[in-house]
Amino acid sequence: MKEKTIKKNELANFVAGLLSDYQVFAPAKEEESLVLKEMQAEGDIDLDIGVGPVNTKKSIKEFFFPQKERFFSYDLTKPGEMEEPVLSDKKRVIFGVRPCDVNSISVFDAIFTSDQYPDPYYIKRRERTTIVAIGCNKPETTCFCVDTGGGPFSADGSDLLLVDLGDEYLVQVLTEKGETLVNGSSGFSEPKSGVLQKRDGIVEEAQKAIKSDIKIKKVKGWLDNNFDAPFWDTVHEKCIGCGTCTYLCPTCHCFDILDETKGEKGERIRIWDSCMYPQFTLHASGGNPRKSGKERMRQRVMHKFKYFVDNNEMVACTGCGRCVKYCPVNLDIREVLKQIQVS
Ligand code: SF4
Ligand code: SF4
Repeated sequence: MKEKTIKKNELANFVAGLLSDYQVFAPAKEEESLVLKEMQAEGDIDLDIGVGPVNTKKSIKEFFFPQKERFFSYDLTKPGEMEEPVLSDKKRVIFGVRPCDVNSISVFDAIFTSDQYPDPYYIKRRERTTIVAIGCNKPETTCFCVDTGGGPFSADGSDLLLVDLGDEYLVQVLTEKGETLVNGSSGFSEPKSGVLQKRDGIVEEAQKAIKSDIKIKKVKGWLDNNFDAPFWDTVHEKCIGCGTCTYLCPTCHCFDILDETKGEKGERIRIWDSCMYPQFTLHASGGNPRKSGKERMRQRVMHKFKYFVDNNEMVACTGCGRCVKYCPVNLDIREVLKQIQVS
């Protein structure tokens, strides 16, 4: 791994320089929220993001797995004819992604790039994307990435990782794609003496700031043996089934495929779905194996912290804290996991 530095006042030039070859998305304020927005010209994004507010409200999953995706359109008066969308080949850079969101891509890769069911839509978007992550000097109180296998400066999955050192960034060059970005730009220097030690101090401090202390292996051990435990009878009681937790979650990937029709014309689409909705498992017969909040909450926890681990050797949670922060009834998944941990 190579390491470089870039002065803060040169970062905007670096990002603007990418616009000739790439679509560039970067964090920008929209009303009260931080969003990943397409950059049109130098100066229309806020690059001073190293010390928070930390994460975007929506995760990066929609860049690879859009909320609604059209597979094809048809017209019943023209049998055998279908029109499929053309997927863009344009290279793109997603800049300023937090490590928890970058880690979520490994969950998506396990599902959408498997040998058994490779998803061409997802794979094409992955191939054309370069990810520039930025570490979190000041994690939010809702963050628990250190408990789920990541960390505020986890480099897994990124092409470049930026560390905010005050007046400059340390840039960890992690892949060929990342190297291409750095090589195509002036403004990078070799790290001066003491820079790496400074980085190590910042990383240590950020890790210590996360106090959640959830023992994921212990949670998994309990889940393995307690599908029918009385715990599930009450833990869901506050939940109103709004689905916010699953829609904002960077790892939730359940979807539905359906036809939207008007007259003779129609479209086959894929849209996000949520295991927190009663209709998710509603059968055409009227039967429903997850008919109450109890079964649905159990499924969400089991899927993330047991079934996904059994099938893919990783939890389907990066500890980003979005479901903690935005649940309208404050149903905190960390509290659920802690209750399991002491059971
Ligand atoms: S965000 Fe909260 S209330 Fe809404 S479905 Fe999730 S746990 Fe239930
Ligand atoms: S379950 Fe919650 S904390 Fe975990 S990745 Fe999803 S939104 Fe983030």
